[in-house]
Amino acid sequence: MLKKYTSVFNHKLIVLIFRLITKMKILLYSFKNVSKNVAFSFLLWLGGLAFSSFDLIAQQVDDFCGTKEVDDRTFEKLPWFGDNDYLREILDSCGYFQDTPDSTKVLFRVPVQLFVYRDRNNKKGFNDLQVKRVVQELNYFNTVNNTGFLYYILPIKYVRNKRRLKMGYRIEAPIQTYFRRVDECVNVHLINSLQKKKLFGRSIFVRGSYNYFTEAVILSKNSSSTSLAHEIGHFLGLHHPHRNWTKGKCRQEAVSRTRTYDGCFKKGVICEQSGDGLCDTPAEPDLTGRVSDDCEYTDNQLTDNWGDKYLPATDNIMSYPEPRSCREKFTLGQIAVMVYTAREKNIEAWHAPKYKNAAQNAYIFDKYEPDDNREMATLLHLGKTQIHTFHKCYLGKENKDLDTDIDWYSFEVKDVKSSEIEIRTYPSKIAYSSIELVLFSNGGLEIEKATPKSNEQIVGTTLKVKELSRGKYFLRIMKMKKSESPIISGYKIEMTKKNSYKKP
Ligand SMILES: [Zn+2]
Repeated sequence: MLKKYTSVFNHKLIVLIFRLITKMKILLYSFKNVSKNVAFSFLLWLGGLAFSSFDLIAQQVDDFCGTKEVDDRTFEKLPWFGDNDYLREILDSCGYFQDTPDSTKVLFRVPVQLFVYRDRNNKKGFNDLQVKRVVQELNYFNTVNNTGFLYYILPIKYVRNKRRLKMGYRIEAPIQTYFRRVDECVNVHLINSLQKKKLFGRSIFVRGSYNYFTEAVILSKNSSSTSLAHEIGHFLGLHHPHRNWTKGKCRQEAVSRTRTYDGCFKKGVICEQSGDGLCDTPAEPDLTGRVSDDCEYTDNQLTDNWGDKYLPATDNIMSYPEPRSCREKFTLGQIAVMVYTAREKNIEAWHAPKYKNAAQNAYIFDKYEPDDNREMATLLHLGKTQIHTFHKCYLGKENKDLDTDIDWYSFEVKDVKSSEIEIRTYPSKIAYSSIELVLFSNGGLEIEKATPKSNEQIVGTTLKVKELSRGKYFLRIMKMKKSESPIISGYKIEMTKKNSYKKP
């Protein structure tokens, strides 16, 4: 048996080395401009990478999320391993159960560096509207679960290279994400498909993946609405609840929450030391193929190694139910792990005001974000007021905060000709700054521009247009001056229409 395994492994090794050699051609093509020194250290690194690829073969790999399971030795070093009470203390010490000053319950505002891969004509790859959806879904699932995390995007980095739209999982993806990585934010690469070639059999398309080595998330187009929350969950220290579920009594998580180890040189409650190490996520098998369309668990016969039937939740974001739309929850234990990991990263700018100092107010962003370009424009409705902020972006400790937040809006004139339209920005409770409004046609022509007059510093800026013909319009709003103040600024916006029928 062992001999058979070894010979198969040797064969795999040969195939993999062959693959590596062919990949080298692509690599050298990609990085032909790097210096010899960099090239040398790169080769060394590649050696390490190849080694970790063997590791991937030797271990169980999950094919849907594509994230490698953490090994037992790393897992055992976690502070809540065997002590879930520790997690409650983390949340307590962060004031999680108290109200935050801005009533948003936010503990961390985390910058996300998006890499959007496209072809040269911008036709293939995630479009900006899809990018906006991905970010808003991420914030939606964090908000409804009260995780204490919100995410804002840094200026998007576009990678215009058709060849990278379809990325190879084992070598290409780690290399691309390693060389593009940006520190002190979450790196997220949006591509068309992530392909994991199997040494034997058909290759698999992975929806999303988190690479522990390059600390990057890759998301492909067939991902679900919770995929980014799931992968960032890995980035923030979460594991799959079904981790090691196929293993024996010493490694598998028991269904019973009170069952303790009997042997295995282990002591204590099993659920705190196996699976994802969290007792508030039930033990579960890989849920793929075990959940009905209406999110009921269907495998009623399956038992753990102690003979207890599984009773899993089918709604956890870190699980694998199919359909993926069943996923919607993080447990308190999972939230605590994310909070712990974020605190360990020790990046002050991520912390919401209460926990460090009020200066971090400058990162508070509104619920319409991202709306930094035309494609991501927020819909402006007649008579409905919106409150927006101009937030800053944290670019890492080496750099100054970026203060170039621009808000884009769109609206549609449905009549042949509209009556006079007035768009006004004015102060809300947030500090107000002078604002410039520019109205564009659908074709990108500037129609009207409004800048604040001196007395409008307080009352706001108003843009008026006599009439507009049928069609779509865009409005760009930006601050007139960069602010030195670390405090957030913002404004209210309202669009009104004068009645076109004059009284006789
Ligand atoms: Zn995963």
